[in-house]
Amino acid sequence: MKTLPFSPQQLEAITAAYPTPFHIYDAAGIARTVRDLQAAFAWNKGFKEYFAVKALPNLAIIQLLRGLGCGADCASSPELMLSEAAGLWGDDIMFSSNDTPLWEFAHAADLNAIINLDDIKHIALLDQLPSFPKAVCCRYNPGSDFSMTNDIMGHLHDTKFGMTRAQILEAMALLKSRGVERFGIHAMVASATLDGTYYPQLAENMFDLALEIRRQTGVEISFLNLSGGIGIPYRPDEQAIDIYAVGAAVQEVYERMISPSGLEIALCTELGRYITGPHGYLVSRVRHIKETYKTYVGLDACAANLMRPAMYGSYHHITVVGKEAAAPTMCCDVTGSLCENNDKFAIDRMLPPVAEGDMIVIHDTGAHGHSMGYNYNGKLRSAELMLFEDGSVRLIRRAETPMDLFATFDCLDDFDHLQEIAHRI
Ligand SMILES: *Cc1c(COP(=O)(O)O)cnc(C)c1O
Repeated sequence: MKTLPFSPQQLEAITAAYPTPFHIYDAAGIARTVRDLQAAFAWNKGFKEYFAVKALPNLAIIQLLRGLGCGADCASSPELMLSEAAGLWGDDIMFSSNDTPLWEFAHAADLNAIINLDDIKHIALLDQLPSFPKAVCCRYNPGSDFSMTNDIMGHLHDTKFGMTRAQILEAMALLKSRGVERFGIHAMVASATLDGTYYPQLAENMFDLALEIRRQTGVEISFLNLSGGIGIPYRPDEQAIDIYAVGAAVQEVYERMISPSGLEIALCTELGRYITGPHGYLVSRVRHIKETYKTYVGLDACAANLMRPAMYGSYHHITVVGKEAAAPTMCCDVTGSLCENNDKFAIDRMLPPVAEGDMIVIHDTGAHGHSMGYNYNGKLRSAELMLFEDGSVRLIRRAETPMDLFATFDCLDDFDHLQEIAHRI
């Protein structure tokens, strides 16, 4: 059973102030999830969550998370800018990029961020910086040394990320010669997994690597990044992961492998989806119902607001507000208005009888939702709102206007003309 953090009456009031569609994020829910994660790993000295900014790159969200003790995981210069603007700096920022240009490493180094290298050849780029960073992490791709039955990120040999075991060992020796003081290892080999054994299995694999690094190079790993990849129950019949059980299982592996070694390794995570995913909702209204060979429920939102169903065929649960108790007797495709037939939020979904004007809530849009939005067909990305525990709501990003679409044209005369046209509508 999927619930909403607001009542239908509350939602009516919100939509009176802010026109649909919009994403709304439940601040209290996000805080609960962060506190549970931190409590589950409280046994580990130095544990820190670096929120994967790409999942929900909104300044107010990064600020909220900073207030809860999280850092930020960035993969680009603009994500670094957002993190700095949210008050993050130094060890609070993990720069986990790939195919990275020198100037982005320079930006990350300017902020004293922890630099996570995706490739051994990037050491030569860091050599070109005014001073070599003091905290460096290496991204590991275990190839066939890691297997899990489900949710693995494709075949790891075909995965573009990370270095081989041999490269990691060589990289560590090189980094030591460059005067690096704090060394880390990172790996992300699953995506959206609901398998509670993922982190414990990954930790075991990486602890083994940390021990081998010390044996072979003398380098002592001081932080280990389990990265993201933990999923959320998008479907009502799926079980959320028990994060306390995950934390306890990782602790068991740590005490067996690391405690006797005398190493002290701070763990970190770069979760995105797990932190904010379940606490975001795309609120939309039924604009038009069309009956042809099937029934099409057309919304005022489209794939530009939430791309996952069109791109991955992902399931997102849908609630017809005010009809929660009604039997789901209507089979329909729930669509957006893009001139693309894959612009469907749901296919052959059973819903309570839907009428034009009904309010629809699409669940679990708090990660990789708005942020994957795009402007195809001149569609505008929606507003983002934050819902606070006391029921108040704040606009944390306004909806785009046509002028935002036109802002990158370079001819000023046309710009004025466009502005004139836009203002007539
Ligand atoms: C995307 C990504 C994450 C976050 O992934 P989630 O599935 O949202 O947890 C973390 N780290 C890196 C390097 C990523 O690319």
